[in-house]
Amino acid sequence: MVDRAHERETASDLTCPICQVTGARPRYHVRGYTVLACPGCGGWYLALQPGQGATYDGDYLRRGRASEATHGYFDYERDRALHLRNFQRNLEILGEFGAAGALCDVGCASGHFLMAARASGRFTALTGVDPSHAAVAAVRERLGCAAVAGLLGVMPAPGRYDVLTLWETIEHIPRPVEALAAARAWLRPGGLLAVGTGDNTAPLARLLGRRWWYLVPPDHCVYFNRRALTIALTRAGYEIIGWRRIWTHWVSGANATMKLLRSLDLPPAKALAAAGALAHVALPIIHGTTLVALARPSQSP
Ligand SMILES: [Zn+2]
Repeated sequence: MVDRAHERETASDLTCPICQVTGARPRYHVRGYTVLACPGCGGWYLALQPGQGATYDGDYLRRGRASEATHGYFDYERDRALHLRNFQRNLEILGEFGAAGALCDVGCASGHFLMAARASGRFTALTGVDPSHAAVAAVRERLGCAAVAGLLGVMPAPGRYDVLTLWETIEHIPRPVEALAAARAWLRPGGLLAVGTGDNTAPLARLLGRRWWYLVPPDHCVYFNRRALTIALTRAGYEIIGWRRIWTHWVSGANATMKLLRSLDLPPAKALAAAGALAHVALPIIHGTTLVALARPSQSP
């Protein structure tokens, strides 16, 4: 699965942000970014050059309206109904682990999971955290609940919660172990942490190789699997209490088409023109590439 032209590239002396092992080798080259594979944990991470990195303000959630669409969503807001449907599975998983009380969703975007969580009636208080000021403003306005703009790992805890969720968020954080360790202080004793992210060992991810839709540098800068996530959570001071997998996602035809054409390296403008025509079509994608870890803070960190 390794790109042939780059097979002989030397091992990196960078330290893996998950397990701290060096010697990662280039696995894929995607739109100007090198994805390194760690020999220690099997996780992947980006070898970022100075100035490369993700930003989330502006049009991140509405890339379909922008001239450039190498990453981001076609139109996150327009797909709200589909997101609410998808998040039922996340709520079902939380329910299996008795989640209730005050919940904080880190990487809440414009609040679709928080909306689904509120509709479930299981939580007494809801808070959202996101790096995007625009997204946080939308959450405050729409849900009237607390929402704070900031980056997990460097921002002060906005409160103490019974449940902390990171849905498709941890892969955006360049120093995930440090961020997860900081998040321990956000949880009440015995609190529940749920982390959902792509699994780079899932059969479909292996089959698609560098065309796996999850490979969206620089937004996704760290890629996990069960082993890598176990190492990250253990190093951050958690004990894992369960695993679940998400098999199906409803996506709009526009978002699916944009991602597909992007993975085929088509120019963004062409990808957008083709995607726009399918904005109102909903497709169930059965993939099994999303892994969810459930954890609690360890007694002795
Ligand atoms: Zn590693």
